[in-house]
Amino acid sequence: MNEPSFKRAYIGLGGNLDDPATRIQRAFIALNGLPNSQLVKQSSLYRTAPVGYLDQPDFINAVVALDTILGPIELLDALLYLELDEGRARSFKNAPRTLDLDVLMYDDLQLNHERLVVPHPRMGARAFVLFPLQEIAPDLWIPGMGSVKQLAAECVGQDIERL
Ligand code: AMP
Repeated sequence: MNEPSFKRAYIGLGGNLDDPATRIQRAFIALNGLPNSQLVKQSSLYRTAPVGYLDQPDFINAVVALDTILGPIELLDALLYLELDEGRARSFKNAPRTLDLDVLMYDDLQLNHERLVVPHPRMGARAFVLFPLQEIAPDLWIPGMGSVKQLAAECVGQDIERL
């Protein structure tokens, strides 16, 4: 029988309620503690202006690279569990949140499942994903979208500050 192999996943982290910077630091540790998984890189924290619903505090965002044996849906379930652990409540689209965890990429997989779409469909236009991703993986190619460098360069005018 084939041994399961490690895959490299990229995960986006964000939050804007109740000390999000501390929550993201705690999430780095929690992600490294997931079964059969290892945190290999973490970006700086970034302060970013909200998108969509604007009447809310700025966000803190970051991205990590995680090597994992978990399958993509198992990884999603683990992230949803960590969000709940940080008191995440889903009220309305683009609402303020304590901690949001997104599967940005899972190896070179392109998946359109009812529960999981990878690469994350909106990642190619968001500075708060592309800037930290470019920091930890400058040569990354996002399947179906293009190079992280090129996509980040196209995000001019988005309000983002590396902390
Ligand atoms: P959100 O409100 O952004 O946290 O939405 C989370 C829901 O989006 C989850 O219940 C997932 O089933 C779904 N989803 C689809 N694709 C992704 C993805 N790439 N990463 C995280 N959640 C996803």
